[in-house]
Amino acid sequence: MEIIRKPKRMTAWVNSQAALGKTICLVPTMGYLHDGHLALVRKGCEWADHVVVSLFVNPIQFGPGEDLDSYPRSFERDAALSEKVGASVLFSPEAIDLYPKGFQTTVTVKGLTSGLCGGSRPHHFDGVTTVVAKLFHIVKPHSAVFGQKDLQQLAVIKKMVSDLNWDIDILGHPIVREADGLAMSSRNSYLNEEERLKALCLHDAIQFARKKVRAGSQNAASLEEDIECRIRGCNGVVIDYVSIVNAETLQKCSVINNDSVLALAVKIGRTRLIDNGFLKAEA
Ligand code: AMP
Repeated sequence: MEIIRKPKRMTAWVNSQAALGKTICLVPTMGYLHDGHLALVRKGCEWADHVVVSLFVNPIQFGPGEDLDSYPRSFERDAALSEKVGASVLFSPEAIDLYPKGFQTTVTVKGLTSGLCGGSRPHHFDGVTTVVAKLFHIVKPHSAVFGQKDLQQLAVIKKMVSDLNWDIDILGHPIVREADGLAMSSRNSYLNEEERLKALCLHDAIQFARKKVRAGSQNAASLEEDIECRIRGCNGVVIDYVSIVNAETLQKCSVINNDSVLALAVKIGRTRLIDNGFLKAEA
């Protein structure tokens, strides 16, 4: 596996592979890799001759007071894991190379970014779409894999690619969970033992909601209320949002159907966690 830092060298590598007729899949990450990230890389390996894993803690997707400075980092370990699961390149640029002095262009997807995480993290998705657009231009992938854990991000990236006529297949990968149901996340490393237990309220809420739907609940608003009430029962968990939405449009559902997803964000101590699940899926 090659480790590449400079965007120009990345593009040169890609061009040399394109000349050989090779296909490329990109897996964008912010590093501190876990099995969720590695599942994305494995999926990419099934789709393309080469997987490029990008590792970049993107400063412009963090708001003031968020965890940019404390975001966990482990470059050597990430490189070893990426190589182990079959990546051809780990692309890890410096911020100064992606955002040189005088940088003034951003990519914005309107509408889809207004609610859910976009509601509580203004400008977050502008940062995401801008960096992903740059990565797409540098790596020129045929496909890219994103996790369904970031439900809104996946919808937003699909929209950007479609709206900008980009010939890139955007592949979603199901959420990878710990044995007890907690969705894997680099930010789980912030949790102490007590908070880690409280974090199970997210998966519990999804299971609870699915059970209610199986028992006949159809009214999304009243189910949201029940879920909020259940989460509020967990001391020290602060709800950001509990929202039942259509998986693609992210519009609120009034009646629960096969495309309805429960999307959740909470804060436990200083850690913000998200999770989601289709309501008509198997528990
Ligand atoms: P991050 O490093 O958190 O920006 O995530 C990089 C990619 O990995 C994104 O597409 C995430 O949606 C995906 N991802 C993160 N955690 C998981 C998980 N538990 N299961 C599946 N995909 C994940």
